[in-house]
Amino acid sequence: MSEIRSPSRRALLFGRVPTAPRPAAIRPPWAKAEPEFLAACTRCDACVQACPEQVLIRDADGLPRFEARAGECTFCGDCVAACDSGAFEPADTLPWTLVAQVAGTCLSAQGVVCASCREVCPASAIRVSPGARGAPTIDVEACTGCGACVAPCPVDAITLQDTSAMEAVA
Ligand code: SF4
Ligand code: SF4
Repeated sequence: MSEIRSPSRRALLFGRVPTAPRPAAIRPPWAKAEPEFLAACTRCDACVQACPEQVLIRDADGLPRFEARAGECTFCGDCVAACDSGAFEPADTLPWTLVAQVAGTCLSAQGVVCASCREVCPASAIRVSPGARGAPTIDVEACTGCGACVAPCPVDAITLQDTSAMEAVA
């Protein structure tokens, strides 16, 4: 799985920036690319009901969306197994290309000691400098985009970014 994700993550490391707008909603893990997903999904709600973590929600348009503020995806694959409409890729492929990104509003970046995100990261992908000397750094190779760090941040400084929307600046 990491072999597929690595090029995109390296793009982050080497200063590449998003050139395409992020989709308004993060689809469930293993969801097919947006055009195919929208065509295949019947809005049946099966994946939403199947998620034991309750991190999938039904949007106003009936489509399922991953909501990191509700919790963490454990990549159990129950959503994929529940879908009969062909809206998902097989669960033995890369679930998505999301990684956490920390904004400048992070308390640690403002000189306030905080390590809430690091403490909850199941992948140990977050490094926080002692003494609040800057924002945490994310190991983009280790980050799974699970979203566990999003809700605990007291200032909502963490978002999930799709590395597949990154292109080289030069
Ligand atoms: S993989 Fe499991 S925890 Fe993650 S969204 Fe699907 S059902 Fe929920
Ligand atoms: S998204 Fe998950 S794996 Fe990535 S830094 Fe946050 S908690 Fe760690």
